[in-house]
Amino acid sequence: ELKDKVSIIIRIRPTLTNELQEQFIRQVDDSTLKIMRPGNSLHMKFNSILPSASNQDDVYSLTQESILSFLNGTNNTIFAYGQTGAGKTYTILGDHSENPSQLNNEKILSYLQGQERGILPRSLYQILSELSKRDQEDYRLYISFFEVYNEKIYDLFNGRDQKDGLEIRESKNGDVQIPDLITVEIQNIDQALDILMVGLRNRATGSTMANSKSSRSHSIFQILLQQKIKIKNETYEDEIVIESILRIVDLAGSEKFKIPHDISIEEKQTRIDELTCINGSLSTLGHCISALIDKNRTHIPFRNSKLTRVLSDSLSGNGKITFIVCISPSMSSSSETFSTLQFANRAKRAVLDGRNLRVEKM
Ligand code: ADP
Repeated sequence: ELKDKVSIIIRIRPTLTNELQEQFIRQVDDSTLKIMRPGNSLHMKFNSILPSASNQDDVYSLTQESILSFLNGTNNTIFAYGQTGAGKTYTILGDHSENPSQLNNEKILSYLQGQERGILPRSLYQILSELSKRDQEDYRLYISFFEVYNEKIYDLFNGRDQKDGLEIRESKNGDVQIPDLITVEIQNIDQALDILMVGLRNRATGSTMANSKSSRSHSIFQILLQQKIKIKNETYEDEIVIESILRIVDLAGSEKFKIPHDISIEEKQTRIDELTCINGSLSTLGHCISALIDKNRTHIPFRNSKLTRVLSDSLSGNGKITFIVCISPSMSSSSETFSTLQFANRAKRAVLDGRNLRVEKM
């Protein structure tokens, strides 16, 4: 069912203590937001809206279709989209509000295991618990974790300096691969959390790349499941291995950040490069989503950014794409919130208008 290919969920985070109490948006019902612009307030509809009072359970329950379809052998992608500070990392990982570079393993572990834990640790718990009910011989589970920064790919499981980033290679049948990416086989949740912590520490301390902040890179956590499936009829019996990938993506902040005046020329250039890469990859992502759903389009512009190239196999095909669009309710963020909602609204309009989805591999 085409309408379900992409879902757009809006998550409104609570007002923070230092923000204006005056609100820019109001929830009208389960799927409608009212945007209070001076002179012309307008309504937008999405698949679901999670109010400020919603918790991590509420968000996670909206990803269940993806998790279950991944366990059934289909690729799935979950994105967190929004301006820096809107709640993406909170949604994906959990309450990480302490300075991450000062977090020790014990503290990271406590937020990955606590009530406030986000979609990523919850998915790992659920997937490993489902798989533990099966015969160990029948499946294999692998994880990898990387970051796309300035159109380069950095392995978050590798703490060493990776100047030029990792190569992308394309096989004859069009599959995009990152051959040197570290992939770790995991068997239980403790192993999964241990290795995730390694990645988070590398991300926080930036040891994989000089001079950057995590909000300026996209981080992609991927879970690869291989499962043996028995095929049987009267004349034939065989066993095949099917693979599915669940990708959980914390996107770079979508804000149009300003370049400060009081920094050096080199620093200014760095910011301009970052800005160009982030805007380019986020707008390409938007174009790919629209193209995936538009029945008249057979060309999906995956090649226009590294982010969309590495995600191409999970965006095409029959898997689900879920956007959790994080916004601040406050008037002080109104212009960024409005452009975030416009991005979401464009994707959603494509969802509602599209019929007879056809995806052709590039
Ligand atoms: P982003 O990843 O989009 O930059 P964060 O996830 O870091 O944003 O959120 C910014 C701040 O707001 C953090 O201190 C975070 O703990 C807090 N926050 C975000 N969303 C929520 C929420 N739903 N409930 C409570 N606190 C939140």
